[in-house]
Amino acid sequence: MKKKYVVVTGGVLSGIGKGILSASVARVMKECGVEVNTLKIDPYLNIDAGTMNPNQHGEVFVTEDGYEADLDLGHYERFLGQNMRRENNMTAGQIFKSVIDKEREGSFLGATVQMVPHVTEEIKSRIRKIPGQLIMIEIGGTVGDIEGEIFLEAVRELWVEEGSENFLFLHVTYVPYLRVTNEFKTKPTQQSVQLLRRIGIQPQMIAVRSELPVEENELRKIALFGGVNREMVFNFPDSKNVYDVPSIVYSYGIHIRIAEKLNLDIVESFQWDYPKVFSSSKIAIVGKYLGTDDAYKSITESICLCGANKPEIIDSQSFEDMTQEQIEMALSCYDGIIIPGGFGKRGIEGKISVIKYAREHNVPLLGICLGMQLIVIEFARNVRGMAGANSSEFDSSTAYPVIDLMEEQKKVMNLGGTMRLGAQKTPVEEKTLLMEAYGEAVTFERHRHRYEVNHEEFGDLFCTPDNPSTDKLTVSSMADFVEAVEISDRDFFLGIQYHPEFKSKVGAPAPLFSLFVKKVMERKRSKQ
Ligand code: GLN
Repeated sequence: MKKKYVVVTGGVLSGIGKGILSASVARVMKECGVEVNTLKIDPYLNIDAGTMNPNQHGEVFVTEDGYEADLDLGHYERFLGQNMRRENNMTAGQIFKSVIDKEREGSFLGATVQMVPHVTEEIKSRIRKIPGQLIMIEIGGTVGDIEGEIFLEAVRELWVEEGSENFLFLHVTYVPYLRVTNEFKTKPTQQSVQLLRRIGIQPQMIAVRSELPVEENELRKIALFGGVNREMVFNFPDSKNVYDVPSIVYSYGIHIRIAEKLNLDIVESFQWDYPKVFSSSKIAIVGKYLGTDDAYKSITESICLCGANKPEIIDSQSFEDMTQEQIEMALSCYDGIIIPGGFGKRGIEGKISVIKYAREHNVPLLGICLGMQLIVIEFARNVRGMAGANSSEFDSSTAYPVIDLMEEQKKVMNLGGTMRLGAQKTPVEEKTLLMEAYGEAVTFERHRHRYEVNHEEFGDLFCTPDNPSTDKLTVSSMADFVEAVEISDRDFFLGIQYHPEFKSKVGAPAPLFSLFVKKVMERKRSKQ
């Protein structure tokens, strides 16, 4: 059977949940027995998201094969329960680089290299290589963006070449509600459909995002002006729980419409098990990227998938001018603390103060990547009296570089895609919290770092689970590097060099988060 495509475009504004909707539709189609795959197209010129500041663009999601992706791949993985790879994300940077490299190699010898056909050919050939029966293609940004035009042109060409019976264009728009006049406004939606048509794409389905449910009159108007049947217009008002969206997609029968349009055989069935009620625990993520909630997306989602309340993101820098009492006051309301990953010196001292508080007050603490490195620094400074202990990332002249650049990183010249990346084998020692979480001796966890614990020089800071000691950190995972440390006489005080958050799926949160949330809840109950 020919491959089928659903192309998801966005109109009016970005950030309206196109990724969630694409992931939800994909999941429903998968439940109906279709072999689904997804592609996120990011029209920016970066080769990947790895060099982008999470403040602006949200978290960098790391795949098993070590690709630094847009966070939408995280939605796809969690919703689809299926790992993504490098080929599931495409950026303008990759496309242009490859076309220009080919030009220099002489592959186009004699030809004038042009946007059409050379760039569009490159895009189409990459799309065609994606395996699967149904490919959901989400084009980032909104229709009308300069960067996105070439990708829209490419999918338009693909639609001509592959046959319209194999294509469905789904346009996701936003309908604002004007409180003063008490009405919904459909004009921006009409105009964004016009923009699509101007480049030769007529959507067959429109998903209308809105704050409140849009009225029937407006939906009919959108159908009329958008040139689609009324039964192909679906309203998605804001929902409190993003994991409700697949059920809404199913209840609307969107899968049936897609199957009819694409002539796909489906079995109507939908099993979707996700947390619907959330415990009232208060968990803090002590962050430094505060520009968008998305900067710590996979961590937040991992917590929610364990059935706990959405964690609060608090500013690590705010702790830097506080007295000990003020820090205690500010943190006393939290049942658990997460120190997430990050780069650069800003906010580091605040995070260290929070770790000290958690260690001294036995508050469950999970340190992820940078968070684990800071656990080691705090311990060296405050338990072992190594004043000024630091990572050479933040202080190149420290007397105690307990965290140091990995040997292989010393040769690295370029910053893009050169960290230690992707899934690596991480052993789990017996008689540790880590083992309580995983219950198995070997796991594969995703990494993204340049620095490591300087175990060679400061081995005396650490002990094995067999010889626990209160003035040492227990190493609960040792590969070529220290992968995890913990303090054994605390309820939950653990740091890992890797990022467990990237492996959470709906119905199967990462084991470390399940155990962390369990310990948080135990502590909360014992306090009551
Ligand atoms: N900056 C640290 C390193 O490069 C931590 C990285 C991270 O938290 N992802 O090792």
